[in-house]
Amino acid sequence: MPRLPFDPSPERQKLHLLAAEFRSILDAFCETTPLLRGCLQTLRRRCGKRRCRCRRGELHQSLVLVERSSARRRVHTVDPRQARRLKAPLLTYRTLRRRRARLWKLLREAVSHSDKLLAWRLRGQARLLSRLGLG
Ligand SMILES: [Zn+2]
Repeated sequence: MPRLPFDPSPERQKLHLLAAEFRSILDAFCETTPLLRGCLQTLRRRCGKRRCRCRRGELHQSLVLVERSSARRRVHTVDPRQARRLKAPLLTYRTLRRRRARLWKLLREAVSHSDKLLAWRLRGQARLLSRLGLG
């Protein structure tokens, strides 16, 4: 069975789609809103007082920000108002980390599609050279 000739159109379309996604990811990195690396957690614990309700299983709860700046890890107690204001910077940071991983994948895909188009465009090399009397 003869092989079908290579059709470059799907490869070009894929490259344009990748470029659009690439662009939108880079735009997200160019925004200027502050980011925060860490997470909000609810801590539940016993206080140690003898007659406290936590002895009966009703543990004390506190909301904390576990913040990771470079190598350090710090825990801050936060109130609900502070927690609300921390959510967006925390979420945006996690989103950008995911999108950074996606950038690598897009780059590899783009190279793969580009290589196919490169090979396809080289198919006429022998003809080009012979036309110039160099074949
Ligand atoms: Zn207690």
